[in-house]
Amino acid sequence: MSDCIFCKIASGEIPAKIVFEDDVFVCFHDLEPQAPVHVLIVPKFHVKSLDDLSKQDEQKMGHIMVSIKKIAELLELKEGYRAVINTGEDGGQTVEHLHIHLMGKRKMNWPAG
Ligand code: AMP
Ligand code: ZN
Repeated sequence: MSDCIFCKIASGEIPAKIVFEDDVFVCFHDLEPQAPVHVLIVPKFHVKSLDDLSKQDEQKMGHIMVSIKKIAELLELKEGYRAVINTGEDGGQTVEHLHIHLMGKRKMNWPAG
């Protein structure tokens, strides 16, 4: 999508502090970290939110889910971490390109705010 900020980061048009990338996703540091480690894991294909995924996305999304532990290992989140997908207005989503927040290096609260 031409005016999507995360598509632009995925294509290299806009810079980001990239942690890891492969054919399916890019992982980069959040601009406004909410924890000592806070990265975003972003599919390289444009999809607005969880609500917009379809059957054809299963393989790529499965790959992303299975890759989270590798990113956590890379970032040395040995004591655990939280992975969050905000969806829609009530879910607190502000960027309309599906992304997983991966946060760690502090104790997380529950329930989430
Ligand atoms: P959400 O509110 O779940 O949609 O999360 C969007 C996240 O993207 C927020 O945590 C923002 O700080 C982050 N963000 C927005 N623009 C950028 C950017 N250019 N580079 C890195 N993180 C960004
Ligand atoms: Zn996009």
